[in-house]
Amino acid sequence: MRSTQISRYSRGIPLLLALLGLLLIASQLLGRLDFWLYDSLTRANPLHAPDQNLIVIAIDEKSLSELGRWPWPRAYHAQLLDKLGGASAVGFDIAIAEPSRDHPEADKHLAEAIRRNGKVVGPVFPELQAGQLLETRPLPPIASAMAALGHTDYERDEDGTIRRVYLRAGLGAPRYPSFAAAVCAVANGQKEAIPPAQPPRPGQAWQRRDLVMVPFSSGPKPFHTVSYSDALSRLPPSFFEDSIVLIGVTANGLGNQQPTPVSANNTGMSGVGIDAYMVHGLLTHQQIRPMPLPLECLLGALLLGLGDWLLSRRVRARSLLAGYALASGAVLLSSAALLYFASIWAGGSVVAILLLLSGTLRYVSGQAQLFSLAFTDGLTRLYNRRHFDEVFGHAVEQSRQKRKPLALLILDIDHFKKYNDHYGHYAGDEALQKVARALKDCFRQKGQLATRLGGEEFGVLLTPGDAPQALSAAERFLGHLAALELPHSASPLGKVSCSIGVRACIPGPADSTRTLFEQADQALYEAKRGGRNRASLYSLPDADAKKSADDASARLD
Ligand code: GH3
Ligand code: MG
Ligand code: MG
Repeated sequence: MRSTQISRYSRGIPLLLALLGLLLIASQLLGRLDFWLYDSLTRANPLHAPDQNLIVIAIDEKSLSELGRWPWPRAYHAQLLDKLGGASAVGFDIAIAEPSRDHPEADKHLAEAIRRNGKVVGPVFPELQAGQLLETRPLPPIASAMAALGHTDYERDEDGTIRRVYLRAGLGAPRYPSFAAAVCAVANGQKEAIPPAQPPRPGQAWQRRDLVMVPFSSGPKPFHTVSYSDALSRLPPSFFEDSIVLIGVTANGLGNQQPTPVSANNTGMSGVGIDAYMVHGLLTHQQIRPMPLPLECLLGALLLGLGDWLLSRRVRARSLLAGYALASGAVLLSSAALLYFASIWAGGSVVAILLLLSGTLRYVSGQAQLFSLAFTDGLTRLYNRRHFDEVFGHAVEQSRQKRKPLALLILDIDHFKKYNDHYGHYAGDEALQKVARALKDCFRQKGQLATRLGGEEFGVLLTPGDAPQALSAAERFLGHLAALELPHSASPLGKVSCSIGVRACIPGPADSTRTLFEQADQALYEAKRGGRNRASLYSLPDADAKKSADDASARLD
């Protein structure tokens, strides 16, 4: 009974699994698993060779100790930008949003240096001030001297890590390319006009589109880093000739360190570092695009449903667990291949884990099924003789110790050979199943165990059960079977009946499962001899009865 339930249940599993996968992927409840997978794959990607033409000028600790506390005089920046005249583009990732208080002329000089350089890209980013969302840009004279503006708004995932960026974003409309994209456009001579500054309006949102992953990788960084102070005073202008240069803060003390998949524990990466990875990715056309969520959901559900359906049907029970583990590994490998070779991030951890889970559950339920089959009779689904013998031995022992009576009923269908001869063997099988069903219906309470002993013989164990109880239970079953009116035209009764031998006692030292069984069998023989369709209670021969009574009173003393 139990095994058919399991197999029927398992038929719906692929569909259930597909639905569960769809829900989990769509809700991103297990999103962190995908973050973990993405970070592991990113760290395992040794790809990029350093780009000779990509240089980060770092406002680092060394520069701060040499040039003094931040912010520095704007004349430094102007001087450096003049030195970078030969660069193909300069990403100037420093917010100059407030006019210089001490030297008002400095802003003008910086704007002139920016204009002279001609290839400077400045940052735009969203800022919340007094509940109002603003876009912060460089001061108007400085912004208008720049070749382009790009947004530096990186997406922070739920776990606080930066993995993604929108290629376009802006207040009210996605008017700005990303900072890295703007730098690359200037380097390629394809810069776009700077849009006018957007005055803040209530309810305006920061809009974004074109999501890509930042192509981080392990191994050597795909760019060179030089200290700002070295760039300013020691390196010759020729060092930067035809290079793409990014200038930004890297010093820990000035903050702005962001966690990324490749930054070591507790230390982040500077914004300019993230920009450099992005620029390198854009230059080498490695734009990793996340698979659109609806597609990811559909693909995940399809893989789960189809995978589970195929695996559960095609893989042999012994290799089931290995089959599912392999499939799960294949999903992860495919995800890695898509990421490395097609630059598509498709996730996959939810599918891999659900497949593994389904395989494990199927394996465990298969083992449980095997276990239950070992104790079940195949035709009638009653317990089999093996189980009965185990329970009977234990019950006799308990009954002896606790001095409580137990009863054994052996039932044998009357004239069953004739039934087979008359109706055929298959009909005989069906009759056996019906009698078994009747037994289950009659003996379903605690302490009642019905079993098929073999052939057309059944056994019932009652614990506790004294002689009157056992006899009345036997009579009850005979009545129940008679009421079913299963036709048996080859029997004098005209319907299926059975005879029952009953043995009930508190087992003494001489009683064993074997003697009790033989005694019940003798009672059955008596029932057959007495005309069938009846129950007969085993009664001890006189001498044995006296000895048994003596034993019992001795034990009571
Ligand atoms: P009695 O009233 O004395 O018990 O007569 P009987 O014919 O029932 O007894 P007998 O031992 O002569 O025959 C038992 C028959 O049960 C013989 C055998 O073919 C049939 N039998 C045993 N196991 C199965 C089974 O699994 N399926 C079917 N269809 N018949 C079975
Ligand atoms: Mg028999
Ligand atoms: Mg029989």
